[in-house]
Amino acid sequence: MSQLKTITLKRGKEESLLRFHPWVFSGAIANLPDDIEEGEVVKVVSSEGKLLGVGHYEIGSIAVRILDSAETPIDEAFFNDRLMQAWKLRQRLGLIRPDNSTFRLVHGEGDFLPGCVIDVYGKTAVLQAHSPGMHYARNMIAKAIVSLPDAGIENVYYKSETTLPFKARLDPVNDYIIGEFETNIAIENGLKFNIDWLKGQKTGFFVDQRDNRALLQKYSEGARVLNMFCYTGGFSVYAMRGGAELVHSVDSSAKAVTLTDANIELNFPGDSRHKAFAQDAFKYLAAMKKGEYDLIILDPPAFAKHRSAIRNAMIGYRRLNAAAFEKIAPGGILFTFSCSQAISKEQFRLAVFTAAAMSGRKVRILHQLTQPADHPVSIYHPEGEYLKGLVLSVE
Ligand code: SAH
Repeated sequence: MSQLKTITLKRGKEESLLRFHPWVFSGAIANLPDDIEEGEVVKVVSSEGKLLGVGHYEIGSIAVRILDSAETPIDEAFFNDRLMQAWKLRQRLGLIRPDNSTFRLVHGEGDFLPGCVIDVYGKTAVLQAHSPGMHYARNMIAKAIVSLPDAGIENVYYKSETTLPFKARLDPVNDYIIGEFETNIAIENGLKFNIDWLKGQKTGFFVDQRDNRALLQKYSEGARVLNMFCYTGGFSVYAMRGGAELVHSVDSSAKAVTLTDANIELNFPGDSRHKAFAQDAFKYLAAMKKGEYDLIILDPPAFAKHRSAIRNAMIGYRRLNAAAFEKIAPGGILFTFSCSQAISKEQFRLAVFTAAAMSGRKVRILHQLTQPADHPVSIYHPEGEYLKGLVLSVE
């Protein structure tokens, strides 16, 4: 390990690392070796030369993502061990069952593998690198995934064309690293879904809404349901199972609407309670009649991808929720979400509060939702928490 290049921090900049925050910001660095290469494993030391950890170096505001606080070799054994820990946690969470083969195996910093995301869909894992270091480690990670004892994962699809820093010029190619296409049908809580990891958003499915979809099912009996921003129709399929009177799914993407129809057909063939519409959310909400729906889901894409967009995002959340409060039937239930990491829980609640106040209706909070336990958040890295939701009763 002595051959690792060393990054020395400025005086006093070791504090957050000693508290297990996994990022070194470029402004904290006193001395960067000249010949350092992006994606390299480096050693980080304090101004006094004390070892703080080893991690992946990259060019940008986050300069190092720490992998371990000791001088551990970042090799096959390291990835085998981290993957094993992640797998055991999912077992403890009860996510690995004959009727559930869909879950997140690695959630970056939350699983002590910053820059790495792995979602499992039955026998196939989809691996996503968010840092050059994880891109270079992809083959070791893929091997570690298929080596997990009794996991039965045989195929690893690498999907990082859009998640790696563009300037790093790594030219990643989306393709199978191990295995090949078998089936794209995965099971979540006994429901079947077509997962399109080749062309779909993220790794092909929003695994993070699993628990919230299960909760929605409980509110669905006899309800007229509107699933806005439906994507692959996750919430719609659960509403159907919950006994909804009718389910309408809306997404501006025609492809999403086709995916939703296919997933409904897969689980409820020939069931005429469901209809999907390719339309803009704001236009659909403006055109729909008052009292048409008893249960509305609003799960929009991240309105604020960066801090600079917060103001406009707040306006977006307010407008969207105001339209739902204006139209939802008396006694209705609204499931409303934000997946913008840059918007805090408090900010999101303020936007929804403002929308409720504008409608003049009595609104109560029934549940406060977040991401599920297979998307763990290191307490030292609150940036890992991104999904926020409120379930509201509207009188
Ligand atoms: N609720 C989904 C995930 C939603 S992702 C699930 O559980 O899987 C966000 C979706 O919003 C995308 O499918 C995108 O096509 C859609 N979208 C983006 N802008 C939109 C708009 N203005 N109107 C309707 N849909 C939109």
